[in-house]
Amino acid sequence: MIICPRCGRWGTHYERIVGGRKYHYVKHREGKRYSTCYLGPDKYVYAERLNMIELSGMRDPERYLRYLKRSVERVKGGERVVEEVERLLEKIRGSTNLQKQGVGNA
Ligand SMILES: [Zn+2]
Repeated sequence: MIICPRCGRWGTHYERIVGGRKYHYVKHREGKRYSTCYLGPDKYVYAERLNMIELSGMRDPERYLRYLKRSVERVKGGERVVEEVERLLEKIRGSTNLQKQGVGNA
């Protein structure tokens, strides 16, 4: 059982392979009925050809940090970019400080 990253309810994770590609789902039981949340493919093959940041589905909680790392590796420098990244870092620091103070856990 996992907490579904799409809806926040408990459910059972499962995979299906269609056309040689793996897709992730969470199955939720509600009494005698079931519902399914789609979490996305294992890999975004077509989107990755243009983006090359190792896109993945919602089942991957580390994906945004990996996107950041891959983006930093790919972005072209320059003062404007450095300033923008510094602004983004301040945003991350601000949200981290809020979490430490317990504000982000409400
Ligand atoms: Zn769900």
